[in-house]
Amino acid sequence: MKEIILVKIGEIVLKGLNRRQFEDKLIKNIKKTLKHLGEFEIRNAQSTITIIPEDDFIDLDDVCEQVRKIFGIVTYSRAAVCPEKTLESILETAPKYLAEQLKSVKTFKVESRRSDKKFPYKSPEISKETGAAILRAFPHLKVDVRNPELTVTVEVRDRNAFVRGAALKGAGGIPVGTGGKAVILISGGIDSPVAAYMMAKRGVRLTAVHFASPPYTSARAEQKVVKLLKKVAQYSGDMTMYTVPFTEIQETIRKKCPEEYFTLIMRRLMMRISERIARDKDCKALITGESLGQVASQTIAALGCTDAATTLPVFRPLIGMDKQEIVDISYKIDTYETSIEPYEDCCTVFTPKHPRTNPSLERVIDAEKLGEFEPMIETALKNLKVTYINTKED
Ligand code: ATP
Ligand code: MG
Repeated sequence: MKEIILVKIGEIVLKGLNRRQFEDKLIKNIKKTLKHLGEFEIRNAQSTITIIPEDDFIDLDDVCEQVRKIFGIVTYSRAAVCPEKTLESILETAPKYLAEQLKSVKTFKVESRRSDKKFPYKSPEISKETGAAILRAFPHLKVDVRNPELTVTVEVRDRNAFVRGAALKGAGGIPVGTGGKAVILISGGIDSPVAAYMMAKRGVRLTAVHFASPPYTSARAEQKVVKLLKKVAQYSGDMTMYTVPFTEIQETIRKKCPEEYFTLIMRRLMMRISERIARDKDCKALITGESLGQVASQTIAALGCTDAATTLPVFRPLIGMDKQEIVDISYKIDTYETSIEPYEDCCTVFTPKHPRTNPSLERVIDAEKLGEFEPMIETALKNLKVTYINTKED
């Protein structure tokens, strides 16, 4: 039986005149995401995108696994294409195609949509006849129009009639690429991959920046970041990662700056360098995984000092979240197990014993001047390592 996937788009329907642009982007993202699975025809009509596999070898389970991670999709469902666009064909297809689902419930109802007004039966008639056909095939069932365990949907569209069962929850959000571009400061921790996912969900296309301080941080720590970004890229799409050589700067902070400001100055330098990369790559904001009060560098005063290092907006999607809430998302996007692998991050290399939790910006700026960092920033920017992150598994 020929199967397709029907995709319902959500929030983007609300975007008035931009709607077309949002839909086009979503379709482009769907095409790109599915390209490696085979050939597909993609149609868009009446707030539904139809994904039609054109190669026999395509496994629809694989397709669904990808589709469920595409932002801009509210629900999706597998549907059977009725061999003919006739009521008889619908009545024959529905009980056969949905047999497994129908066997596992006690109540159901049928809903029909008829966007082809030339079809000789109206929606209530289609529902009634399909319901009767299902009851004949599965006499244990009862119709419950208020609170059915399963809703069977029949859609009669321009070219075909489809039958489908339960719709599955999609990734939500809005299509990646409709929200501009931003730099995610990515560490190997739990938080920043989740922050990346959350901003991609709001349509932002990501460029990643990672700070590495060899030999204090190892090549494996960097590989861990690549592994995390590959997981994030399943949702956000492919991205470029820039690894910044940060050793000289960190050693200078330790040598020349007061210990209580180590972390703050380091964070400010991360912002300054990330801003330069962002401007070069046409990114209009910075994203971090900070959450208020989580550590000394994430108090209001400390975040104020960090923000003052850049004129770009800094997005911190986790700012009001508890650790457990962040962990729950990291499980959902499958980054948790990688994040907790025990490799060092440059943040933890030179941590002060008594960091300031209520720093004054003037003092931080004065302390930072002692380092004379500008030439080192230039050198670091000249020596960026570029890694292309794609969604294919290793
Ligand atoms: P995470 O779990 O994301 O590492 P964290 O709670 O451990 O966050 P910090 O280590 O203080 O917090 O880092 C705060 C934020 O700074 C991170 O969420 C990330 O956005 C950024 N950051 C930290 N280390 C790096 C790094 N090596 N390269 C790039 N960005 C970093
Ligand atoms: Mg960290």
